[in-house]
Amino acid sequence: MSIEKFSVEKVLSVHRWTPTLFSFTMTRPAHFKFTAGQFARIGLKVGEELVVRAYSVVSSPFDETLEFFSIVVPDGAFTSNLQHLKVGDELYLEKIPYGYLTLARYQQPLPHDLWLLATGTGLAPFLSMLQDFDTWSKYQKINLVYSVRTAAELAYVDRIQEIAETFGEGHNGFKFIPIITRDPSAPLHDRLPILIENGELEKSAGIELNPATSHVMLCGNPQMVDDTKEALKRRGLTMNRRGEGNIAVENYW
Ligand code: NAP
Repeated sequence: MSIEKFSVEKVLSVHRWTPTLFSFTMTRPAHFKFTAGQFARIGLKVGEELVVRAYSVVSSPFDETLEFFSIVVPDGAFTSNLQHLKVGDELYLEKIPYGYLTLARYQQPLPHDLWLLATGTGLAPFLSMLQDFDTWSKYQKINLVYSVRTAAELAYVDRIQEIAETFGEGHNGFKFIPIITRDPSAPLHDRLPILIENGELEKSAGIELNPATSHVMLCGNPQMVDDTKEALKRRGLTMNRRGEGNIAVENYW
């Protein structure tokens, strides 16, 4: 890994949601331009070695700083060091962003209803998209669906509310739909593919998945991405290729 590909940035804040989930912000160099939904490659010095991992950006492309959302992977070379991050620490940021989970990839069908389906830290790219006024002006309906294991893992709920009030002011087609899979008392507690198959997701959204109008983005647990993709295909939705089709995906691990 050539160190010249990176700039050295400083940690500005750290927020701990649970013992295994945290967010951090860091300085953003002027050269680092990205589109909402893209990811950055962040490096951490572990001894003499630079260990690098991909992280979707939480902040908006217009923010002066960069925000990321992370899980602590047990015994993971990167996150088990990253979890001890403090304000003022140095991180390496690869100079260019990556990834195609962006709204610009959709040409057909035209924007109408947007479904952002996340598990865990896969929420990150969708928070970035929702902090872009363009997203709100393009889509009449926006459903943000966020599946976690327990209620304590539902990070960013207040921020989602604030984002909807700030960026979605006057927009009355936004729904935030949390799923808590290990709490049988939660209004929605089944996994996403089941909720698609039994119609519960559409019932909560108040709108149907429709191959002629829906843009569906999936981000998170790779098995969730695969299983949900198949459930959507059974409903007649297609993978987005060269601009055409409904489904776009990113594995978050
Ligand atoms: P998770 O196991 O990904 O669960 C988050 C949500 O996704 C839960 O609601 C879970 O439901 C659901 N889910 C899991 N598999 C699914 C499937 N096939 N279809 C539909 N929904 C599914 O939990 P997490 O806390 O985000 O991550 C757990 C572990 O994943 C971590 O401890 C870590 O080891 C690893 N991880 C690694 C990275 C990495 O960068 N290497 C990043 C994130 C996570 P259920 O409750 O029914 O399982």
